[in-house]
Amino acid sequence: MHKVNDASVELREKVFEYARTRMNFSPPPLDSPLPEADLFSKAGQTITESGLGGLASLDLFGQVLAPATISTDHPGYLSFIPCAPTEASKLFDLIVSASAIYGGSWMEGAGAVFAENQVLSWLASEAGLPVTAGGVFVQGGTLGNLSALVAARHKAKAARVLAGKAMPQTWKFICSSEAHSSLKAAAAVMDVEIIKAAVDSNGKLRGTSVAEALAGAGDGVFAVVATAGTTNFGIVDDLDAIGQVAKQAGLWFHVDGAYGLAAMLAESTKSLFKGLDRADSFIVDPHKWLYAPFDACALVYRDPEDGRKAHTQHGEYLDILTETGDWNPSDYAYNLTRRPRGLPLWFSLATHGVAAYREAIESNNRVARQISTFIEQSDTLDLVRKPELSVVVFTKRGWQLADYEAWSAKLLARGEAFVVPSSHLGQPNARFAIVNPQTTFEQLVAILNSMDE
Ligand SMILES: *Cc1c(COP(=O)(O)O)cnc(C)c1O
Repeated sequence: MHKVNDASVELREKVFEYARTRMNFSPPPLDSPLPEADLFSKAGQTITESGLGGLASLDLFGQVLAPATISTDHPGYLSFIPCAPTEASKLFDLIVSASAIYGGSWMEGAGAVFAENQVLSWLASEAGLPVTAGGVFVQGGTLGNLSALVAARHKAKAARVLAGKAMPQTWKFICSSEAHSSLKAAAAVMDVEIIKAAVDSNGKLRGTSVAEALAGAGDGVFAVVATAGTTNFGIVDDLDAIGQVAKQAGLWFHVDGAYGLAAMLAESTKSLFKGLDRADSFIVDPHKWLYAPFDACALVYRDPEDGRKAHTQHGEYLDILTETGDWNPSDYAYNLTRRPRGLPLWFSLATHGVAAYREAIESNNRVARQISTFIEQSDTLDLVRKPELSVVVFTKRGWQLADYEAWSAKLLARGEAFVVPSSHLGQPNARFAIVNPQTTFEQLVAILNSMDE
């Protein structure tokens, strides 16, 4: 199995050829899912005692499995949050895969960790955090939020122990009703309570509302979470005022910017993030709006020691790593073994420079504004909310959920676009999440026009 022979050289070339062909598509085929029974009838039992062989397995993937797998980097993929990696980041992901780098410790992964840390430092400095800020790339925003909140509670607990104060009956954190579902999941895992603070009519969380929630929350609040770009609408909470309220109450201030925080890099949206420099921690997903492949979330702490104290795992087999002053990425989140998943972003940033990122994000903002204006001026479409970033939510007058569903199915069947219906306050709507620089205004207009066919 390990011997390099002609067959394996041929397979290697075939795999590279597959990757090359995939990257040469512009755009890639959108593709669409199939029921399991259909896939089984085409693919059959693929795990066998003697193996199918590499060429046959690759062929099976290319012919059967890949076409049943949606390309999230297709410019017509507009649902949820798409993933539109730069070519440089995709290429480097291949190198990471070929390299077997252990990204959990400095001892094993120093060069890779150094590069990842430069990216994290750059993000921290864009956010206005001190140069001592740092963190780790984790699998996704869900794990990033959980890890930050675990660190926040750990710190609150330690402070009570130090002050000789009793522990609260229930630990709690405050966030808005528009906050991402991962916060509810984190609260469940941590067995803590969520105190919901009300948003204003545009879905934005304000400082006054956080202060009210805090006043009625009772004992045990350890953090306030603001969202910098809600997933549904791309609304950025009032970070400045919320951060102020959190600080005055001596609470940890976490900013969930999984999707939207990237827009701090663009001139026209930068000011929305005023107050981000008050954060004790923030997250942003490179696989969302920083043009990197799945899966990566940058988790940054103002004081990385808060993360390290909460997350370092101890064990006889680990002490050689943890009993040193080295920077070990595993110590800063709920993880141990890790792929250096920040490297594809590092390579692309190092290649293109930051200015190219600012411009790409700005171009997504521009397309979002253009299509919003188009919708506002249309006689048959209505914006649900005026977008702040690159998510545009709208309704078609007279349409029921079934109309949106039929339209969505038609677009996918034609390989044109992936726009699944969404809803707000029980009303169905359609939503464009624009993070792919190849998504054009003209293309979106064509998609809107297809509603009238
Ligand atoms: C997507 C998202 C998350 C979760 O991130 P994953 O990478 O999907 O785990 C958390 N918060 C917000 C605001 C998001 O948009």
